[in-house]
Amino acid sequence: MLELIPMKKGFFIGERVKLKKPHACGGEWWEVLKAGMDVTLRCLKCSREIKIERGKFERKVKEAEYLDSGNSRSA
Ligand SMILES: [Zn+2]
Repeated sequence: MLELIPMKKGFFIGERVKLKKPHACGGEWWEVLKAGMDVTLRCLKCSREIKIERGKFERKVKEAEYLDSGNSRSA
């Protein structure tokens, strides 16, 4: 079940996002785990979790796509 995150760009928990800078491991894609004042992301390559300020996150996001769960963007 996806939980709507009230963000400017309409990101959702469970959504995959690509940041402008890749992780130290070389991974570019992250899964959104939590979003509040800070956004918690998990690297899809090495499974490390990072916390990032929401404003920074929004500036760093390049593109986003949904996990293959059949959900569609309806925000
Ligand atoms: Zn990584």
